[in-house]
Amino acid sequence: MKKKKVGVVCPQCKKEFNYYDSDFRPFCSERCKQIDLGHWLEESYNIPSGEPLQEEDFDKIEQEELKKDS
Ligand SMILES: [Zn+2]
Repeated sequence: MKKKKVGVVCPQCKKEFNYYDSDFRPFCSERCKQIDLGHWLEESYNIPSGEPLQEEDFDKIEQEELKKDS
């Protein structure tokens, strides 16, 4: 079977890789995925530690992300 090849750029390390070769899409590797997750957690969104995330919190985070992108 012919494997599809789609060149994408890893959002973490900016390296180009084959989308279908990675188990950690959209990242090229587990490491990049972990790094990104770490950044996400470091940028505390003023959520009190120890408190489980509520659905409203996710909405808030999404809003913040949208603001950042624009
Ligand atoms: Zn990467």
